Amino acid sequence: MNNFDVTVIGGGPAGLAAAIKACDEGARVLLIEREERLGGMLKQCIHDGFGLSRFGERLAGPEYVERFMDKLSEKTVDVRLLTFVTRIEKTAEGFCVVTVSRDGLERISTKTIVLATGCRERTAKQVFIHGTRPAGVFTAGTAQHFTNRLGVMPTKKCVILGSGDIGLIMARRLTLEGAKVLGVYEINPTPSGLTRNIHQCLHDYDIPLYLSHTVTRVFGADRLEAVEICEVDESYKPIESTKVRVDCDALIVSVGLIPENELAESVGVELDSHTKGPVCDCQLMTSVDGIFSCGNALHVNDLVDFVSASGELAGLSAAHYAKKAQCKVNIKIGNEFLYLVPQQLDLNADNSRVTFYFRSKAVREKSLLRLTVDGQEVFKRVYPFLRPPEMQQLVLNMDKFAVQNGSDVRFSIEVAE
Ligand SMILES: Cc1cc2nc3c(=O)[nH]c(=O)nc-3n(C[C@H](O)[C@H](O)[C@H](O)COP(=O)(O)OP(=O)(O)OC[C@H]3O[C@@H](n4cnc5c(N)ncnc54)[C@H](O)[C@@H]3O)c2cc1C
Repeated sequence: MNNFDVTVIGGGPAGLAAAIKACDEGARVLLIEREERLGGMLKQCIHDGFGLSRFGERLAGPEYVERFMDKLSEKTVDVRLLTFVTRIEKTAEGFCVVTVSRDGLERISTKTIVLATGCRERTAKQVFIHGTRPAGVFTAGTAQHFTNRLGVMPTKKCVILGSGDIGLIMARRLTLEGAKVLGVYEINPTPSGLTRNIHQCLHDYDIPLYLSHTVTRVFGADRLEAVEICEVDESYKPIESTKVRVDCDALIVSVGLIPENELAESVGVELDSHTKGPVCDCQLMTSVDGIFSCGNALHVNDLVDFVSASGELAGLSAAHYAKKAQCKVNIKIGNEFLYLVPQQLDLNADNSRVTFYFRSKAVREKSLLRLTVDGQEVFKRVYPFLRPPEMQQLVLNMDKFAVQNGSDVRFSIEVAE
């Protein structure tokens, strides 16, 4: 099957929650993940503290997502792994999602899309550090991936730039694994991470935190040998007289996350300049009807419980939207009409008093207006005459006529006997 009500892009905690919820609402759901396992970033977050508000327990990241993966396995959700969404196109029925996988290029049609693509880290390049480009400059997430998933220590002695939560967590993690973390250097006068992480990850392990400090240069040819650190003034300008050289074999950069929204942008979704995620309504629908956003793709969350909650809302909203789209029935008219308004019937709405407006194309004398549903006449009325300038109004209880999804609903005008 290649035709879905809801296609969720991204199999992290947000995408998992969205897929489960949309399936519970009766939607045909596809979940696409570019990696070989579901779980998103939480696969590498092996420390505990996840799910306190949702489950009332201190779970590790993989344990938290495992609960959602277990639930997902009970659902009829089509899951495609190692599949990368490269493009989204608008179509008459909704959207076409273009994917690349080992099977090649595929085009999937879907009524709605939930963007759960998460976020990515800012890199050293984006904070303009001068010097050479040796090995040993990692984002905190890359260091986390090496340490927790590949079992490879990326450093013996390092400096951490930025006091974001991932950097703080990695300061503790690397210390526990035997590395020496010389300090966490933060350009702002206040820390960026959660207070609990400052205590549990730095203070408890005697790792110093230097506020209003930054790394201004890296040294080393093949491998990093040292970094230059400066205090900054109130306008964040390095104070030359304070510069010191610190010997280390790695610089770990934890300077913020950016929602991943290239796909959203490519299909015209409006982004908020503050969150860098889509502008959305209370159902998490973006500026493009039928496209929803959740989790860290929408805005960077501090707790995964919020991520899951937003995934559930996006999944629910997308399923409702798809169902609604599914229940629109086109009302057909014969050539005798100039037009008829409205042109569609929403089967989810109250149709007990639908007002139709129509004009005939030509001047007609005694005419019979007929309404058929699936070939059966359900209504007729004789008009003594019909003229294009004179709009006709007709109020009908359409709920009486057993119109169903896919029904042929047709108005015609013929000569009355
Ligand atoms: C490097 C890093 C480390 C983190 N470490 C911690 C931590 O230690 N503790 C903590 O509380 N929080 C941490 N977080 C935050 C945590 O990631 C979020 O709370 C949570 O994982 C966000 O869930 P999500 O589903 O929105 O995104 P993610 O978990 O990032 O999942 C997004 C998924 O979308 C997939 N995807 C993206 N684009 C495509 C595409 N085009 N096609 C197919 N699939 C796609 C990705 O492969 C990924 O699996 C970290 C975040 C990052 C970026």
